[in-house]
Amino acid sequence: MNVTHLECALCGLRHEAQRLLNLCRECGKPLLVRYDLDKAKQSLTKESLGSRRPDMWRYREVLPVADDSNIVSFGEGWTPLLPAPRLGNSIGLSELYIKDEGQNPTQSFKARGMTAAVSMAKELGAKKLAVPSAGNAAGALAAYAARAGLECFIFMPRDTPRANVVECEQTGAHVTLMDGLITDCGAEVGRRKEAEGWFDVSTLKEPYRVEGKKTLGYEVAEQLNWELPDVIIYPTGGGTGLIGMWKAFDEMEQMGWIGSKRPRMVTVQAAGCAPIVKAFEKGERFAAEFPNAATTASGLRVPKAIGDFLILDALRNSGGTAVSVTDEELIAATGEIGTTEGIFCAPEGAACLPALKKLMADGQVKSTERVVLFNTGSGVKYMESFG
Ligand SMILES: *Cc1c(COP(=O)(O)O)cnc(C)c1O
Ligand SMILES: [Zn+2]
Repeated sequence: MNVTHLECALCGLRHEAQRLLNLCRECGKPLLVRYDLDKAKQSLTKESLGSRRPDMWRYREVLPVADDSNIVSFGEGWTPLLPAPRLGNSIGLSELYIKDEGQNPTQSFKARGMTAAVSMAKELGAKKLAVPSAGNAAGALAAYAARAGLECFIFMPRDTPRANVVECEQTGAHVTLMDGLITDCGAEVGRRKEAEGWFDVSTLKEPYRVEGKKTLGYEVAEQLNWELPDVIIYPTGGGTGLIGMWKAFDEMEQMGWIGSKRPRMVTVQAAGCAPIVKAFEKGERFAAEFPNAATTASGLRVPKAIGDFLILDALRNSGGTAVSVTDEELIAATGEIGTTEGIFCAPEGAACLPALKKLMADGQVKSTERVVLFNTGSGVKYMESFG
């Protein structure tokens, strides 16, 4: 609703909405959705939210999809922002929260992106959807496509967690396993999509997954009574959630819901695949492809992200940073979070904890600050990671 147009995130070129589009026709970078926020805020008020549906579509006025009947939903989003006092206490932090995205349909926050992307693909007339995935995006796309009655074609590395392969097969997707990484899978989709008539729903190569994921930002604000945290720690692959939250904060400020203060945004990556951390440290705006990417946190095994500059801009403009942690550290953190708080995190989500500890040890996060960690998925999909 209230969409005015699409805008290139790099060159600013305006593109028409309500058409199936992928990247900017001029520079090949991601397109972002722009809204008439003055119109949106007339009915979308803080007060109105109290009586709305308990899922991410509660923010209807700032989500795409013109016609409600095109929304394909399992009730995703509006996940709990769980206080983590025992974990906080054990590391010396007074106000720690975990946004538990493992409680989403298909057990990860990829559901947020896919409800928006599949609803829009349906509205705009796509029939066959294709995606390269490190795992959870595939599971989410397969489920939403089935619910929409659309066909979907999934390309994953052969060593993707088995749970992701099985869930796709059991929800009727066409699954191809490839030798190589998500970038190789993406190249295969790119090569074949025209001849096959596939619409490419790769992250940030279509404009709507980021719209779904931006609801993370609206929810954190609403759940903290419109006072944003001091620090947000986010396990970053393609960066869609971080880019989305950053966009949501701007939209909320334009609607007069929050001021100009922002959380410090922190990217966490695995030491075996840390292109954003490397680019951040070198002061670069675009990240080089990370060689020989390897980590058990499969969602972080993204050696090259098309939205790299958007991630890096958000980290720098927020006064945040980028941290890498080893696989040993993130697996140990899964047990530590589970034992103290009872949340069985995905390894990606668990990676936030050793990153936070490093920032506290460096004095970059103070014991009195309010910190939100993103547990982006459930540990149940990752049996192979736990030996
Ligand atoms: C995809 C994924 C990530 C990375 O998310 P991006 O928005 O692509 O950076 C993190 N954790 C899990 C569990 C994922 O599935
Ligand atoms: Zn452009």
